[in-house]
Amino acid sequence: AKTDGRNTYRFFEASMGTAIRERRMLEHDLRLAIARNELRLVYQPQKGVRSQAMTGFEALLRWKHPARGDISPAVFIPIAEESGSILEIGDWVIQAACREAASWEQPLTVAVNVSAVQLYNPDFVQQLHQTLLDTGLSPKRLEIEITETALVRDFNRALTTLRLVKALGVRIAMDDFGTGYSSLSNLRAFPFDKIKIDGSFIRSVNSNSQAATIVRAVLGLGRGLGLPVLAEGVETDAELQFLRDEACDEVQGYLLGRPAAINNFRHLTHREMVV
Ligand code: C2E
Ligand code: CA
Ligand code: CA
Ligand code: CA
Repeated sequence: AKTDGRNTYRFFEASMGTAIRERRMLEHDLRLAIARNELRLVYQPQKGVRSQAMTGFEALLRWKHPARGDISPAVFIPIAEESGSILEIGDWVIQAACREAASWEQPLTVAVNVSAVQLYNPDFVQQLHQTLLDTGLSPKRLEIEITETALVRDFNRALTTLRLVKALGVRIAMDDFGTGYSSLSNLRAFPFDKIKIDGSFIRSVNSNSQAATIVRAVLGLGRGLGLPVLAEGVETDAELQFLRDEACDEVQGYLLGRPAAINNFRHLTHREMVV
């Protein structure tokens, strides 16, 4: 048993070393990813529940590693946040999304995810402003998605920054609502324009009465506060029907469209040419 223990320990030690080396490698490669042209954005449609009309797209980051292939943002974003490269990457994301949206013939919204590290960067608002000027995108067509977790580090600074963002005319959505440090007072204290209910609640809405109760409560909260609510991760007709019955405002999910290169949505971003 003793030898077993030691072997287990050695194995543990070795795999720890591998995990750390792996992480260092990704951290290093991520710093080069922009210059090497390995990052791109995919876009996922957001639609009105009643109108079924497109309202905008969420831009989601993709990284094609030269050796490893596609790496999920759930893996590389936390690494970028800890190593600080998220500042450069986040700036790239906002610039690319604004440039893209500015080229659309229809005035659809583009939503970008903004990490806490970016929010607390003193240059954030200035850079955002500069990007809007450089790309010519109307500020009201840009929406930044912030999670509640991003607010807790320093409420006062987050509030000051988000007020400045709002003063630019940029919209602000609370992302992943219901997960993490949900506090109802955040909804009132911060200048949010939209609540996004996390997909984990939507996916159990027809099987789990607690999830349905939570979704109804968030929808009621949105109505009471005058904030539109978007349900994320809608995958089935039954989920969409539930959300329609409960008067949810907007939906996003595989049922409505998977995240894809913007070329797949040309018919939506560009009016058909009249010959
Ligand atoms: P998120 O912001 O909550 O984005 C929604 C995620 O759910 C996306 O995963 C999307 O592809 C996925 N999704 C959309 N519809 C469905 C559905 O119907 N079912 C299921 N199961 N999933 C659906 P993705 O693209 O892998 O991104 C994961 C997370 O990585 C994002 O979660 C966001 O937190 C982060 N992320 C992605 N792009 C960026 C970025 O540009 N900047 C920052 N800071 N974070 C990003
Ligand atoms: Ca998001
Ligand atoms: Ca989300
Ligand atoms: Ca999420």
